[in-house]
Amino acid sequence: METLAGVTRMRLVGGNLALDFLNTRAGPPVGPPDDDVLTGYPALVAWSVYAGALSEPEAKALRRRSRDDPGGAQAAFTRSLRIRDDLDEVFRAVAADRGPSTAVLARLRDDEADALGHARLDRGRLFSWTWRDDQTLARPLRPVVHAAVQLLTTGALDRIKGCGGCRFLFLDESKNRSRRWCSMDDCGTSEKIRRYVAARRTRASG
Ligand SMILES: [Zn+2]
Repeated sequence: METLAGVTRMRLVGGNLALDFLNTRAGPPVGPPDDDVLTGYPALVAWSVYAGALSEPEAKALRRRSRDDPGGAQAAFTRSLRIRDDLDEVFRAVAADRGPSTAVLARLRDDEADALGHARLDRGRLFSWTWRDDQTLARPLRPVVHAAVQLLTTGALDRIKGCGGCRFLFLDESKNRSRRWCSMDDCGTSEKIRRYVAARRTRASG
């Protein structure tokens, strides 16, 4: 298996597959992103394995298929970037308590219809959609789209938040809804250092 180290550079801190998909782009809270781990179809497949949305045998089959059909792989990759832009618009709007555009919601409906059209209902404790029979190159996108729609239709929308220090979005599952950072190790620590330095400066000048 090829190693795509960049993919694992982004930590999975979104608490939801769709939010983690958005977090494949990093950068400041506002303005354009300055880093993107999705560099091509192989990175998309590697990310899906990393995020637990694709098994290694499935990934292997997709890599083979993408080599046989590079045009199809490129089309699936281009579509994945469009879907990421759409989900970005939707969830950033929700996090800011605004309504996403009707056009983007219509595209999300079409993407979900397409995802479910390739799914099958499998029984575990409950029945759930799986994509075990789906060998199309768009396979990595299906669970992401479905997770997004699930979150929008059954999740707690007021728990979808943007990090105070970067552009990451996350689902705040803390008891008192007090989470402000994508991760205490990254943005949370930077904030703590910033406050410490500011407090020391205040003491020094006082
Ligand atoms: Zn952050």
